[in-house]
Amino acid sequence: MSREKLKSLGLKLPLFPTTSVGSFPKPDYLAKARAEFSKGKITSDQLRELERKATKFWIQTQEKLGIDVLVDGEMYRGDMVAYFAERFPGFTEGGLVRSYGNRYYHKPIITGEVEWPGPVTVDWWKYAQSLTKKPVKGMLTGAYTIMDWSFNEHYADRRATAMALAGVIHKEVEALIAAGCKIIQIDEPALSVRPEELPIAIEAMDATTKDLSAYFITHACYGAFEQIYPGMLELAVDNFDLEMSNNDLGLLEIFRGQPFTKDISFGVVDVHTHTMEDEDAVRQRVEQALTVLDKEQIWVDPDCGLKTRTVDEAIEKLRLCVAAAETFRN
Ligand SMILES: [Zn+2]
Repeated sequence: MSREKLKSLGLKLPLFPTTSVGSFPKPDYLAKARAEFSKGKITSDQLRELERKATKFWIQTQEKLGIDVLVDGEMYRGDMVAYFAERFPGFTEGGLVRSYGNRYYHKPIITGEVEWPGPVTVDWWKYAQSLTKKPVKGMLTGAYTIMDWSFNEHYADRRATAMALAGVIHKEVEALIAAGCKIIQIDEPALSVRPEELPIAIEAMDATTKDLSAYFITHACYGAFEQIYPGMLELAVDNFDLEMSNNDLGLLEIFRGQPFTKDISFGVVDVHTHTMEDEDAVRQRVEQALTVLDKEQIWVDPDCGLKTRTVDEAIEKLRLCVAAAETFRN
C-alpha cells in the first residue's frame, strides 16, 4: 500500500481517491477540426487552439465533479501508440491495421534506433496542471505495449525492442518529474495478451521507472489476467488501474486467492456501453471490492478511457464514480 509514498510526495488525497483512466471524448468542434486539419484546411496552430480549449473544458468539468486526480483527457491524441511512434525517431508510419472495434490505425514500424526527441508530453501536462490546483496525472504508453503494437525491423527480438523503448520512456518520465509531475500513469493494455512475456513487461517497467520518484500507475484492460496473476504484481508501479466492471468483478475472485499487494484504481463503471449504471449498482461494486481489498488500497474510476462515449455519457459515468467514493468516505 502506498499511502506513505503519496504523503512523501506531498500529495494529500482522501480515501477512495477518484480519477479517470485517461481519454475523454473529443467535443464535436474538435473532432471536426481534426478532420479538417488532416485535409489541410486548417493550420496546426488553429487545431492546437481548439485542443487547448477542449482540455480546459475537461479540466473544469472534472473540478466541478469533484474528481481528486485529474487527467488532461488526451484531446491531442489519436491512437495511444501511434502518438508516440510519430514523435520518436526510429519509427516509420506503417499501413492501416485494425485495433479494436471498427477503429483502424497506422501500425508503426521500427526501422532504426529508437530515440527520445526531447519532451513529448510535458507541455500538455504543464498546460493542464496550470488550470487546476488538483494533481494532474502524466500520461504515457508503456514500452511493452508500444513494442507489441508495432512492427520491428531493427532490433534482434521483442525483448530488445521493449528495452530500447523503456530507455526512451524513462527519459520522458524524468522530464515529467522535472516539470513537477508527481503521479504518472504508464499504460500497458497489452500486458496480459502474451502471458509468457510477462517477464519482458516487468523488466521494461523496471527500466522505465528506475531511480525515479513519483507515484506510478499502470492501466491494463482486456486479456488473460488469471494467467499473469499474481506475477504481474512485480511490475514496478504503485497502483494498477484495472477494468473490473466489464467482467462483473471476475478479477476480484482471483485476488481472493492471492492477496493484491498494491493500490488499485478499481473500475466501477463499464465504458463499453451506452447503458448508464445507477448509483446503487456502482456502490455495490465498491462494497464488493471491500470484501477483498483494504479501503486504503482503493481508488475509484471508470474501467477504461471514456473516449468512445458521448460527452454527456462520460460526464455522467464520472459523476457516478464520485458519488460512490463519497458514500464510502463518510
Ligand atoms: Zn483500457
